[in-house]
Amino acid sequence: MAPAGQKKGVLERLEAGEVVIGDGGFVFALEKRGYVKAGPWTPEAAAEHPEAVRQLHREFLRAGSNVMQTFTFYASDDKLVNRGHAQRFTGQQINEAACDLAREVANEGDALVAGGVSQTPSYLSCKSENDVKAIFKKQMDVFVSKKVDFLIAEYFEHVEEAEWAVQVLKTSGLPVAASLCIGPDGDLNKVSPGDCAVKLIKAGADIVGINCHFDPETCVKTVKMMKEGVEKAGLKAHYMCQPLAFHTPDCNCQGFIDLPEFPFCLEPRILTRWDMQKYARDAYNVGIRFIGGCCGFEPYHIRALAEELAKERGCLPAGSEKHGSWGSGLDMHTKPWVRARARRDYWENLKPASGRPFCPSLSKPDAWGITKGHADLMQQEEATSHEQLKVLFDKAKSK
Ligand SMILES: [Zn+2]
Repeated sequence: MAPAGQKKGVLERLEAGEVVIGDGGFVFALEKRGYVKAGPWTPEAAAEHPEAVRQLHREFLRAGSNVMQTFTFYASDDKLVNRGHAQRFTGQQINEAACDLAREVANEGDALVAGGVSQTPSYLSCKSENDVKAIFKKQMDVFVSKKVDFLIAEYFEHVEEAEWAVQVLKTSGLPVAASLCIGPDGDLNKVSPGDCAVKLIKAGADIVGINCHFDPETCVKTVKMMKEGVEKAGLKAHYMCQPLAFHTPDCNCQGFIDLPEFPFCLEPRILTRWDMQKYARDAYNVGIRFIGGCCGFEPYHIRALAEELAKERGCLPAGSEKHGSWGSGLDMHTKPWVRARARRDYWENLKPASGRPFCPSLSKPDAWGITKGHADLMQQEEATSHEQLKVLFDKAKSK
């Protein structure tokens, strides 16, 4: 394997028409393993439990990931002190530890390291452009000193904040990817996906796309709208898609955050590995070449993407040693009726049952309809008080 620095960069790969397989959502995966707290969703585990973060990187690498994203989601200083979340580590320590872990594992295979920034509480609280940009710069300075291969601005609901992030990241001279968590209705100010993509490219993004908040079908559709907007404007870009691993046909513009099941009862919505193969093919067919995942993705989901695109990539991931294509490993099963399932048409056409007789197939999203500037979204450093919570409980019950 080529040592770090001699690998092909992300833009070289995409310009050569290669498929770049992303990784999965660390926050959700590590919450289930007991290393992240749902609510704050901050990544102190990079410094606190490096062995857990390293192991997850290794599993994604083995599944076929070409990108090790630093586990720095919500690792901006304003988020780390937000809502009374006491920290044993500084933002700098967490960001540095995350870079070291991603680099260590990336060097074990054909993967690049991407330093990531995400939306800030400061923007929601209407802080100035300079204040918000200073937060991104602080994280970027760590990424540059740790020699990451490229940068990703991801999980932005407002294109304006993503543009600010891209403008800051671009000053590093590294390739910049920008990924919004929006659906076909556009960002929370109703800027269309096509217009968002054009704005991000004009801000300096080399790769544009969508991550989180919606299922693969919706995200692929939204990236397609971005691509059409970019082409109409006579511009060029590469495209990325890193959706949820949950089916969300009932979501409104806020995505899965508004589903009543968020975040603790989403399991019945998980995509199967076969659903993932369909996603990989659909994404490829609309011209997306950076294909990965976000919340809900486990390593076996990423392996399914790599297996579906094995011909295009010219290789199977290491993890496929233990996984026959389309269930073929079942030909060694003891029971003959299970051996009869060792075929593609069986798994491709199966309609899996949920086993939950009284459950609906769809839910009604919360739809409180508030965004940047609304008093309820002003962020505070101290934890939400019992009095403040009671007001919210009453509001929720009256809806
Ligand atoms: Zn996510």
